[in-house]
Amino acid sequence: MGTGASTGVPMIGCDCVVCRSGNPRNERTRSSILVRANGKNILVDTSPDLRIQSLKNHISRIDAVVFTHPHADHILGIDELRTFNFWQKEEIPIYADPETLGTIMRMFPYAFSEENRGGLTRPRLAPYEILGPTLIRDLLVTPFPVKHGPVYNHALRLEGVVYLTDCNEVPEAGMEVMKGVDTLIVGAVLYEPHASHFGIWQALELVERIRPRQTFLTHLSHRIDYEKLKSELPPNVHAAFDGLTVSVPRPDVSLAS
Ligand SMILES: [Zn+2]
Ligand SMILES: [Zn+2]
Ligand SMILES: [Zn+2]
Repeated sequence: MGTGASTGVPMIGCDCVVCRSGNPRNERTRSSILVRANGKNILVDTSPDLRIQSLKNHISRIDAVVFTHPHADHILGIDELRTFNFWQKEEIPIYADPETLGTIMRMFPYAFSEENRGGLTRPRLAPYEILGPTLIRDLLVTPFPVKHGPVYNHALRLEGVVYLTDCNEVPEAGMEVMKGVDTLIVGAVLYEPHASHFGIWQALELVERIRPRQTFLTHLSHRIDYEKLKSELPPNVHAAFDGLTVSVPRPDVSLAS
């Protein structure tokens, strides 16, 4: 849905070569993915650009939302869910760790209020805490904490996919969760390391350790030109771009009782 760092690319007021390039692959809305499984659409994070992302990708239904962490670039599109409520005529379940859920409920209390009868004016959301492996619309989702500067982000294993956006260090327990993953989507804002994000080369070191079949770099800032990055990456690692679709085989998974 989106592959940009928190400001998006182009960045407001910037006339750098990437922001001025005119290359659609350098136009990045704020980061988010949509997972299609069992005919259901599961959205990961509600980017401030959710409206335009949904229009561009012809998304007319959201069956559930999972959040990684409560930073503005990952949650501020929550109000756009009201349009999906309008068409679907039911609450949309949202899943997050308790802290993220608490922040969202404080910021958007009107989306959870009893007297909220919907219509087009307010989202109607049903909150669920996600503490460990959880079946969400029959998709097995496993959150695992990773360091994101001074805070934690909950990276997600979604069966054969790991979505690991905002992270500068993965604890050993997280490395275990990622074992055997088919597709890794990993965030890197700059080439060089950042206080709360991987640099490109750190992301590639992680790829070396995990050895997924395919990797996509996301959450990219205006310091990264798509064509240049593409020319520098190993064959199984790709620069993601808005609108990119990838197919991932579903492993045989079950939820231990
Ligand atoms: Zn972010
Ligand atoms: Zn720029
Ligand atoms: Zn963040």
